Amino acid sequence: MLTWNDILDYLANGNPDPPKVVECSEEDWKKRLTPEQYHITRERGTEAPDSSPENCVNFTPGLYTCVCCGNLLFDTKNKYNSRSGWPSFTQPVVNNAVRYMEDKTHGMKRVEVECNVCGAHLGHVFPDGPEPSGLRYCMNSIALVWHESSKDILATAVFGGGCFWCTEAIFKTINGVVKIEPGYAGGNIHNPSYKDICTGQTGHAEVIKVTYEPQVIDFATLVRIHLTTHDPTTLNYQGNDKGTQYRSVIFYETDKEKMAALEAIDEIARIYDNPIVTEVKPLKEFYPAEDYHSNYYERHIDEPYCKFVVEPKVVKYKKELSSLQKNVHK
Ligand SMILES: [Zn+2]
Repeated sequence: MLTWNDILDYLANGNPDPPKVVECSEEDWKKRLTPEQYHITRERGTEAPDSSPENCVNFTPGLYTCVCCGNLLFDTKNKYNSRSGWPSFTQPVVNNAVRYMEDKTHGMKRVEVECNVCGAHLGHVFPDGPEPSGLRYCMNSIALVWHESSKDILATAVFGGGCFWCTEAIFKTINGVVKIEPGYAGGNIHNPSYKDICTGQTGHAEVIKVTYEPQVIDFATLVRIHLTTHDPTTLNYQGNDKGTQYRSVIFYETDKEKMAALEAIDEIARIYDNPIVTEVKPLKEFYPAEDYHSNYYERHIDEPYCKFVVEPKVVKYKKELSSLQKNVHK
């Protein structure tokens, strides 16, 4: 979670790298946007307060993208009623969705917020928001497009590759990945607990559910990352973690995903001496793991398992995956 100190750090030491870059000539922006949208986003305009009172208090679950380029910016769950007259948020969806600029216009010293993909002016951020972030992203309503359904903006993939503390720590660093949930899938009992899983008798694998932006990264690339960030050639174990719960598996929800998974396995098989044993299975049910498993690596970084098992993996893969990673300094 970003706080004011992180924003000051970005201003002093440089902004996070964008998930991708969209460039367009001023002429093309003029064609694509209404005059008002163009004025606010490309000419750093500010809409009058209360221009869209209904938007300020719309808390129906949904997502907000950039009106210029479609970059995913905010989630309603981080929105609150600041009573300022502009839609207000406490966090962007991912740290590198927006960038920050010093703004000394109008005799004030403020921090301007721009879309990190296309440079659209979105609004400003202030350190007077509610806890825990203490941030208020004060946005021009016209710079945002609201989507009630996340269907066209986000997709999910479920992978098993051994201990989910490790796989979560690795996938979190990948550009276009918005959220990781550790959980269980592929077995035959309902709502299993971690204790049930540890018996190795449930048929479930320890998995992660990866929520990602298909605009930034595709399923096939995620599968390739998965296959190269654990050992897909060892049947029912990863290192010292033994049992069917640690099996290597890719779950698919469509035939297209199934094909992509099989093609990626064919392609990656060349880099391993032994055959790939990764299962490719239809996803029936994903059961989220107990809350204490989320961000396990980050929260238990000094524990022996994290120090000696998770950390070396993360360091190794960080090197190999550097071109796909978020460079967010955080
Ligand atoms: Zn944009």
